[in-house]
Amino acid sequence: MMLCGNTLAVYRGRFAPSPTGLLHFGSLVAAVGSYLDAKSNHGEWLVRIDDLDPPRVVPGASKEILSTLDSLGMEWDGEVVYQSQRNDIYQEALASLNKLGLIYPCACTRKKIIDSGMMGMSGPIYPGTCRNNRSVHAKLSAWRIETKSDPIVFQDLLSGSICQRLNREVGDFVLQRADGVYAYQLAVVVDDAEQNITHVVRGADLQDSTPRQIYLQQLLGYPVLTYMHLPLVTNHAGEKLSKQTQATPIDLSNALAQLIAALGFLGQEPPVDLSNSDIPSFWQWAIENWRLEKIPCQI
Ligand SMILES: [Zn+2]
Repeated sequence: MMLCGNTLAVYRGRFAPSPTGLLHFGSLVAAVGSYLDAKSNHGEWLVRIDDLDPPRVVPGASKEILSTLDSLGMEWDGEVVYQSQRNDIYQEALASLNKLGLIYPCACTRKKIIDSGMMGMSGPIYPGTCRNNRSVHAKLSAWRIETKSDPIVFQDLLSGSICQRLNREVGDFVLQRADGVYAYQLAVVVDDAEQNITHVVRGADLQDSTPRQIYLQQLLGYPVLTYMHLPLVTNHAGEKLSKQTQATPIDLSNALAQLIAALGFLGQEPPVDLSNSDIPSFWQWAIENWRLEKIPCQI
């Protein structure tokens, strides 16, 4: 805890990897950025496993990710939380939104949505087909939430002011898929609130989904969070490193070199002699010298 004037402020950050593969350099950068921002603010750093979508989960990947973080000297606070074990609390949140009259069943196929909707920054914009036709059989349906035309604005610590009108730019979005799996947008909001997270530091690929999360936070009466979206690591083809783009798992035979590379990617200019030190010395230097103004803007 730290004292800021007369108010008692707490920093609780988190890292929430998906166990769809092992930690690669892109996810390492997000982990290092969120860890350093939390630790340099004397905050806590939690780890949450985003294993909501069972078909995408690779057996053993969660355990490997945690073991990799451990080998890199990244200590998390509290118990690791698994989203796959939290369906009850997501269901409660969905029920609260239902009471507000804002969710409705949708049985449209992806093809139908693509054919009738415009393309937005996060995929096709749902044209609202089922919004006014609530007689659809709910058992075979996804659940969507109505979006509004009011602008949702937040201040990203790196990118500055971000504004989105959800109804025009995203459309009514899914909170629960037809197969019963809760959407990332709902789960992340419920988990951040339930774990008293105050700061979200993650990759810039999630910046566009932040207004959807803020909208849900507002409806559910959750506190406002501070956001920082870090530049993304891309491959030679300009694609984000991910399992889909065949990113290689990080090489733990030289863990210190991987950490120094991640810190360098975040613009922190680690001194050359840090590579002759050890992991505890690395973290000591990195925490003491963490400067947001050095982080490069997303290209
Ligand atoms: Zn529909």
